[in-house]
Amino acid sequence: MLYIAAHPDDENTRLITWMSKEKLFRTAYISLTRGDGGQNLIGSELSENLGLIRTRELMAARAIDGGEQFFTRANDFGYSKTSNETLDFWEKEKVLEDMVYVIRKIKPDVMICRFPPDSRAGHGHHSSSAILAKEAFDAASDASKFPYQVAEFGTWQVKRIYWNTFRFGSNNTITEQQLKLDAGGYNILDGKSNGEIAAESRSQHKSQGFGVPSQRGTQLEYFSPVSGDTIVSDPFENIPSFWEQSPSGKVISNLLKKIIAAYNFQNPSASVDQLLTVRSLIRKMPSSTIQIQKLKEIEKIIKDAMGLWTSAYSYRERYAEQDTIHITLQSILRNFPEATLKVNGVIYSDSSNSISLSKQLFQSRKMVLAGSITNSQPYWLKENHPLGVFTIPDKKKLESHGMMYLCWYLLNCLLKTIH
Ligand SMILES: [Zn+2]
Repeated sequence: MLYIAAHPDDENTRLITWMSKEKLFRTAYISLTRGDGGQNLIGSELSENLGLIRTRELMAARAIDGGEQFFTRANDFGYSKTSNETLDFWEKEKVLEDMVYVIRKIKPDVMICRFPPDSRAGHGHHSSSAILAKEAFDAASDASKFPYQVAEFGTWQVKRIYWNTFRFGSNNTITEQQLKLDAGGYNILDGKSNGEIAAESRSQHKSQGFGVPSQRGTQLEYFSPVSGDTIVSDPFENIPSFWEQSPSGKVISNLLKKIIAAYNFQNPSASVDQLLTVRSLIRKMPSSTIQIQKLKEIEKIIKDAMGLWTSAYSYRERYAEQDTIHITLQSILRNFPEATLKVNGVIYSDSSNSISLSKQLFQSRKMVLAGSITNSQPYWLKENHPLGVFTIPDKKKLESHGMMYLCWYLLNCLLKTIH
């Protein structure tokens, strides 16, 4: 599911929580801007510096509600009364290109807009997000649109697109005839209602003065269809899971059901052997963005079940380009007999680049990071930009989230494979 709106804090965290934590859908929010044009209740930062803060606030919100976060090149250039003005500043086709890129890459079955494409949205950015969402819905399946993306990801037909209607003060767009669902369920594994998790998530928008109360009990969400196939009662009906779409997927699905049925929460490592079998079966599936995503997910589960912990740190917080960066990699396997950690991206290690882990044995390894590392900088601010759009030459960056912190970089370099 892909949720679409204009700013950090526009998103419906309760619906995102319901989808991500209750239904276990892969759930994403695309905020067309980073909110540079807003106000700042907690500091003096404005414009690009505020956009950076709000980018991080969105990331903190997603870490709580379980959604993924995407952006486009659009800049929040300030208040805009009409969508015509907004789309002019945003150089419309560029923002559309970025939205279609994300759709083709993550392949959502359902798109949901926060706003309608007209004045009921209350703001030119908001109505523009709905206009662009509908156009992106159509363009993603059209091979003549942005063909360089088709070469990489293929086209994608989203099954349906909705507007998630709302009641904001006196602005009420909900009617009882609309499709509805109860997003207020209780998540027994987290011991929290969706409305409690959503409130924690929403309260991350600190620069905007958020801090919203937890809600418990039934919370209805309403939907008005925009385009796509005809549905009867449930906005998510007739959507087969990835596993149900191929014979090998069905085999994996059955094995996962067995693993879950036998899962011992006091000894997660008892599931590791079967989880490794699942990983090898996923590896044999035809490569696709969804197959790659499933592989990442199973590897995270395996690492967690093994109790694997790793951390890499440098000796200074800042380096200049061309500096030699000395680092220490620490690792421990806390809940599994043994494993091998293979390390790449280093030019020197005090022994081999392969670390043998055994249960509860803490290891510390000194290394020197290889290759030239350029200065870390928010990628969308590297180049000068016109008022309405950032200049981002590399589309792959649309899914990354802000400053490239050194330790984050180190871990991504270092942790290659676990056997
Ligand atoms: Zn907004």
